[in-house]
Amino acid sequence: RPRVLSGIQPTAESFHLGNYLGAVRQWVDMQETHDAFYFIADLHALTVNPSPSELRRRTRVSAAQLFAAGLDPERSTLFVQSHIREHSELAWILICNTGMGEAARMTQFKDKAAKFGESSAGVGLFTYPILQAADILMYQADQVPVGADQKQHLELTRDLAQRFNSRYGQTFTVPNPYIPKEVEKIGDLQDPLAKMSKSSSSPQGLLEVLEQPGPLRKKVMRAVTDTGSEVVADPENKPGVTNLLRIQSAVTGVPVPELEARYAGLGYGAFKKDVAEAVVDAFAPIRERTEKLLADETELDRLLAVGGQRAAAIARQTMEAVRDHIGFLPKS
Ligand code: ATP
Ligand code: MG
Repeated sequence: RPRVLSGIQPTAESFHLGNYLGAVRQWVDMQETHDAFYFIADLHALTVNPSPSELRRRTRVSAAQLFAAGLDPERSTLFVQSHIREHSELAWILICNTGMGEAARMTQFKDKAAKFGESSAGVGLFTYPILQAADILMYQADQVPVGADQKQHLELTRDLAQRFNSRYGQTFTVPNPYIPKEVEKIGDLQDPLAKMSKSSSSPQGLLEVLEQPGPLRKKVMRAVTDTGSEVVADPENKPGVTNLLRIQSAVTGVPVPELEARYAGLGYGAFKKDVAEAVVDAFAPIRERTEKLLADETELDRLLAVGGQRAAAIARQTMEAVRDHIGFLPKS
């Protein structure tokens, strides 16, 4: 079985529709066909300096949502990144094998740093793609399901793996991204050309998995649409309508051309109502299961500990090889 690895940051109280369609749903599907490793990226979340209580709560909410969305602790390994100390160690080793120029090319850093102003953005934001490379290479992953925003980071990961292998001898599997075209970038409802994002979308632009049906419906109805009244996919001239069509298609499984035919002559109102219902129907069962899982933190923490043990076994193996190949002395 090929191995799959992916992570999600606990940077908000809830995942959003982009996370769900672009990542989490693929994770659930891939546990049937792959040796599946998934993690909650709490080290990455530090880049935006959450308070300790926020971080603790969001880490548990993230785990509960993943199980609620269908991750099966028997078939998948779900763990918390900070439980595996080797991630930080490997990140440092890879940092020392990365050029300033190559790190500075990462567009996510530029996007995220813009919010803080160039010189007050944290160094962690700058180096986090390299930590991400460490996360992936640690588990010798073959495939990494992510949204389009992570494409550049995956290329960096592949470069770092190849460089390390040629400098120090075969150590890492060179991973491939898995980015399904139709859901690679779910747009912000208020700014459909920008990606829906936990940390940068406005509340009106986000559809959150744990949100109540009322607000979800309201946001879809108020989503930015385009001039005209035809429900057709046209990414250039109608990014808002195209985004909603992609959302409805991904959630219901009905192809976009069939949806276009269904709403011919009906206008935006009827269309948006159905998009809203489709999203509400997809999220409600996940929200309910998440609430139940959160009621028993002891059990949730136990499941994460089991995942952590399985992850630790592989991390230990990889790091023994890495330390030996780069020339660290053995401990005893
Ligand atoms: P943040 O704003 O804090 O970076 P995020 O919304 O980008 O949060 P992440 O935890 O960084 O979420 O990403 C988790 C996964 O979700 C990644 O695989 C990412 O590519 C994917 N993803 C995030 N936003 C979208 C989106 N709008 N469309 C499709 N996939 C997405
Ligand atoms: Mg992100």
